[in-house]
Amino acid sequence: MKITTIFFDLDGTLYPHNNGVWGAIAENMDRYIVDNFGINEDKVAKLKQDYFIEYGTTLRGLQKNFEVDTLDYLAHVHDIPLEKYLKPNSKLNDILTQLPQKKWILTNSDYPHSERVLNQLGIKQHFEGIIDVWTTKFLPKPDPFAFNKALEIAGHLNSSDCLFVDDIPKNIEGAKTLGFKTVLVSDIKTEVSPDFQISQIHDLLIEIPELATNN
Ligand SMILES: [Mg+2]
Repeated sequence: MKITTIFFDLDGTLYPHNNGVWGAIAENMDRYIVDNFGINEDKVAKLKQDYFIEYGTTLRGLQKNFEVDTLDYLAHVHDIPLEKYLKPNSKLNDILTQLPQKKWILTNSDYPHSERVLNQLGIKQHFEGIIDVWTTKFLPKPDPFAFNKALEIAGHLNSSDCLFVDDIPKNIEGAKTLGFKTVLVSDIKTEVSPDFQISQIHDLLIEIPELATNN
């Protein structure tokens, strides 16, 4: 399996989804939605769920249905003490060092949050760049636009030369449809049938050792 480039999702992929980061961001989102859009506190969870299903992210749903100050929203929701949840990850650092491919972050989050996460994990130096939700013009994964934009930015690549790693089945499905090789980082059984499935990012080279030699 010859892979030239690996696109990694960030949140829930390069660190576990249940380590507290997402909970803290979700709390900030809830408060922001209640304070700014007049949504009742007990309706927020359903609204977010509906938006996630229909639009891919809560933000995209808010943009479609309300006047949103996007910079203000993103700054508020990501204002969390990251150092409380994330430590430098030498194991992940080792794995990334062993991968000869070019590596990119492809995230539905924004650049400042992504950069802070990578710095906190101590792995930023491995990545060519961060393709964030501004870059994909708020058409988040699994929208084909996001994947095609990523291929274009990384050097007008063919999807079949690329591996896409994400923790959300519908993102994997979107990438597969476009011809990427895929790795789902999740314990959950899914209908999507990724090319590979691992329960944590630390298992990447255990599951696909040929990535290190790239042939
Ligand atoms: Mg994720």
